[in-house]
Amino acid sequence: MTGRIWTGDELTEDSTLTCDVCVVGSGAGGGVLGLELARRGLDVVMLEEGGYHTRRDFDLKEAKAYATFYQEGGNRATDDLSIGIYQGRTVGGGTAVNWCACFRTPPEILEHWRDAHGVKGLDSATLAPHWDWLEERLNIRDWPIEQANRNNRILWDGLGALGYGRGTVKRNVRACASLGACGLGCPTDAKQSTLVTLIPEAVERGMRLYANVSARRLETKGGRVTAVHGDILDPRTNRPTGKKLTVKAKVTAVCGGALNSPGLLLRSGLTGRGRVGKRLFLHPVVVSNARFRERVEAYSGAPLTVYSRQFIDRGQGRMGWLLEVPPLLPLLSAVALNGFGAGHQDLMAGLPHANALISICLDGVQPGDEGGTVALRGAGEYSRFKVDYPLGELHWEAFREALKVAARIQFAAGAEVVLSPHSKPVVMRSEQDIPLLDDAPYAPLECSVLSAHQMGGCAMGGNPETSVVDSTLRYWDSDNLFVVDGSVFPSALGVNPMESILGVAHWGSQHVAAAVSGSG
Ligand SMILES: Cc1cc2nc3c(=O)[nH]c(=O)nc-3n(C[C@H](O)[C@H](O)[C@H](O)COP(=O)(O)OP(=O)(O)OC[C@H]3O[C@@H](n4cnc5c(N)ncnc54)[C@H](O)[C@@H]3O)c2cc1C
Ligand code: SF4
Repeated sequence: MTGRIWTGDELTEDSTLTCDVCVVGSGAGGGVLGLELARRGLDVVMLEEGGYHTRRDFDLKEAKAYATFYQEGGNRATDDLSIGIYQGRTVGGGTAVNWCACFRTPPEILEHWRDAHGVKGLDSATLAPHWDWLEERLNIRDWPIEQANRNNRILWDGLGALGYGRGTVKRNVRACASLGACGLGCPTDAKQSTLVTLIPEAVERGMRLYANVSARRLETKGGRVTAVHGDILDPRTNRPTGKKLTVKAKVTAVCGGALNSPGLLLRSGLTGRGRVGKRLFLHPVVVSNARFRERVEAYSGAPLTVYSRQFIDRGQGRMGWLLEVPPLLPLLSAVALNGFGAGHQDLMAGLPHANALISICLDGVQPGDEGGTVALRGAGEYSRFKVDYPLGELHWEAFREALKVAARIQFAAGAEVVLSPHSKPVVMRSEQDIPLLDDAPYAPLECSVLSAHQMGGCAMGGNPETSVVDSTLRYWDSDNLFVVDGSVFPSALGVNPMESILGVAHWGSQHVAAAVSGSG
């Protein structure tokens, strides 16, 4: 078998392919699955609706990067626009544009999935050899504090001054030049994304990858997927060219990520007894912005290298959060730093002196926290999907308390001013001003909320009435359809999700492969 990567401009005619497995999506889940199936000698066709972009295209230009490598040109949001959603859309998916932080799944989350959702056979000991393999293959290594940029160092120092728990992050990089551009695609191939590691190996082993092909619908008959119908897109416009690619596979694996995977199932009439699109989790984030006298230059250096889980467990009924810093590239900052007019202009002018802390809230583990939903706006394979995520008292309480903690940390590290993410920011000039945060408005669109970690929508579980896939990642009502990506997580994680998705996909590949040999 000869592997190859095709792009939309080469696909000028309708065609139909046959193979063992059709993998839809080339991100964390799809990238691992494609390689693991190809290593087993299986004939794999991978479809990716994003373009095939490599380091030559990663030219450090934000305006181009979000528009080209992100879902909906970087403008994806919940239906009420209260949560901005950043998600990759390119060969390599989120792994090509993410910030390289790597964490194994916390054991207590896997235990929660077992106890609350009936997930079987997925514990830390089972996943450990899969993570060991991935950590070796993707060079996932500790990034020592001595190499931290000033932005991360502020978090480290502030946590230390207050006696809070802190740690350094592992990163999947090799010979990283600390350019700080991870979110724009790595121009040196230092980032060990699936784009530069697992996908090239899978192609060498025979996998056929079709970029600029959007799977619109799965055709089913008698509980089996018989074909994947894809639109070929023009790489320049992202619009359908009118040409179609159809894949007839023994087994289909949907790896489009949270939001897109449930969207594809729904467009195909697969509702999972009403569960597809439910339990969507976003790790909602609030940003605390600080100004320092010295230059921080939070746009350069490895972007995310320090974290704290000090506040992850706040007890029953209260949402916890993970603390990290984001890279403050100018365009991203224009969105993440709030305010309007002269105030915002002032913030942007002071960007070299800015530091930001993000509080990433752990959703989906508190009783009654069902997260959001993905649904279709209309019928048919061209209907767009609609994302709803109700923000309730559970979230607002956590955001308010998280902003207080973040301000305390920033002042402890020497901040001159701290600003909240409200449309009219709360301005704090010393610790004494932190109680002002209590009087700020906590409501959609008045307090900015963001997400870069989408999970759920095709939740895994032990009961077909309450979950979409079983504990082998198989869609309950089909014997040749699997979902292998972050959408299968029945809750969020409380750590950045990439390594969890990679690990679950590596483990789950055995079940997908077994379904090929079992299929008639
Ligand atoms: C800016 C940013 C920073 C991040 N930083 C980190 C970090 O530091 N550490 C970390 O652990 N995580 C990070 N993440 C999150 C992480 O990248 C994602 O959680 C992870 O990539 C999700 O994996 P996935 O397989 O579920 O989906 P994805 O990686 O999103 O892959 C899905 C792929 O499927 C394609 N697709 C979707 N629908 C279709 C269709 N119908 N037909 C064909 N193709 C389709 C998409 O275009 C996409 O390429 C970050 C994300 C972003 C956006
Ligand atoms: S910080 Fe390292 S991994 Fe990120 S873009 Fe720069 S060189 Fe690549």
